[in-house]
Amino acid sequence: MSAPLLLKAGRALVDGAVRDDVDVLLADGVVNAVGPGLAVPPSTQVLELSDGLLAPGYVDLHVHALDGHGLVGEGSPDVPGLARALATRGVTSFLATTAAAPVAELVQVLAGLADGGAGARCLGAHLEGPWLAAAKAGAQPRDALALPSLTDLERLLAAGPVVMLTLAPELEGAQAVIARAAAAGVVVALGHSAAGYDVAGAAVAAGARHVTHCFNAMPPLHHREPGLVGMALDRGEVTVEAIADGVHLHPAVLRLLWRACGPHRVCLVSDAVDVALPGTQAARLPDGTLAGSRVGLDACVRNAVAWGIPLADALTMGSTTPAAAIGRVAALTPGAPADVVLLDADLQVACTVVAGVPVWQR
Ligand SMILES: [Zn+2]
Repeated sequence: MSAPLLLKAGRALVDGAVRDDVDVLLADGVVNAVGPGLAVPPSTQVLELSDGLLAPGYVDLHVHALDGHGLVGEGSPDVPGLARALATRGVTSFLATTAAAPVAELVQVLAGLADGGAGARCLGAHLEGPWLAAAKAGAQPRDALALPSLTDLERLLAAGPVVMLTLAPELEGAQAVIARAAAAGVVVALGHSAAGYDVAGAAVAAGARHVTHCFNAMPPLHHREPGLVGMALDRGEVTVEAIADGVHLHPAVLRLLWRACGPHRVCLVSDAVDVALPGTQAARLPDGTLAGSRVGLDACVRNAVAWGIPLADALTMGSTTPAAAIGRVAALTPGAPADVVLLDADLQVACTVVAGVPVWQR
């Protein structure tokens, strides 16, 4: 076990608010104490950044690849490489996110998933597909799309840690798969879908609890057919993902989502597929279709703040809320995992701490 670590930055996100004069003591892999003037054991290491800010480490529920490492592109899958890249962006835990692929391939990826690398914690997989609607496939490979199958679901569940599963609820067989996956403890997410409001609502009744990159790869909100977007805004029991890269959502739409859902229902996600494609912040197919972002979650938090979301809410949407969406805790509260990001005055990542150990420092 590593030595206790005292983090001093001046400000910290505690109980949903940014407070002054708050230090954080980490020991034995958890947050030990939070507050001003903490008594610390003699062996304690101190990490200090004046004019900084401490927040729970970021949690990215939807990330495919970053800095050329991950689950797409050459050399994939490379989850340890992805974990290291994510730590440089303040991410302390993540779901390794697959794209639509034959079930046998997904089984292999799941079987090879292992935590324990140096970097962010891999909490398991987010399977984005293959049970997605062809009409809303976006950049997902169309030839890999399939209809939901209980047999295939059991193969996937047996292969490795499926934490989240994105599917289109209007597909034949989806209801049974949603119910079975939810019963197995998987967070069922709705996305890449043209479902109407009623079908989306029935999916929630069957156990779905999350909406994948809300507004992207689904019909827009219509006042006579609210659709999946309308269900997401309307139903308090679902969390929603937002890609705040500045390309996938207009700043006003992120503000609307935050106003409608509040900071405890909006999860900032990167949806990063950064595999060294030249170009803009978002990866695009040759026809212009958006194919995920090229930014980290730290940039999404900075964007949200720049677009008018209060700092405490933006930090919450990057950490506490996505963690809670998968039944985890990300908070500067005694007993919570010792996963912390130390930010400078510009919200750039200065240090990332995982399990009480600095895994990346600028
Ligand atoms: Zn997607």
